[in-house]
Amino acid sequence: MASKILGRTACPCCDHDAAHVKLKTDKAEGQTAYPYVHCRDCGIQMHTRTQHQAEHLLKRTRAEKLDLPAPAPAPEPAPAPAPADLPPAPVPPKPGRQMFGGLFRD
Ligand SMILES: [Zn+2]
Repeated sequence: MASKILGRTACPCCDHDAAHVKLKTDKAEGQTAYPYVHCRDCGIQMHTRTQHQAEHLLKRTRAEKLDLPAPAPAPEPAPAPAPADLPPAPVPPKPGRQMFGGLFRD
């Protein structure tokens, strides 16, 4: 079960921003090793199983030596206040079925 750390990424489960991205180094001959995420904060492991998934994960991986939290994105400018003589804003569409307390919609 030997692995090496490729870099760091944000945990897909908790808010930890420096979960390890690792690669098994002891795969059997002929088996492909794909990178996976191991969060030392919450303990989750997320394994990639295809080249496509691995490429997506590696795009989100920063080098170990850059183990600093990504700078917070600049806040969006507040929208300009609407003039008072406009008609009321349209009613937003009714949301779909909610699951997991509204975290996901289908
Ligand atoms: Zn985590």
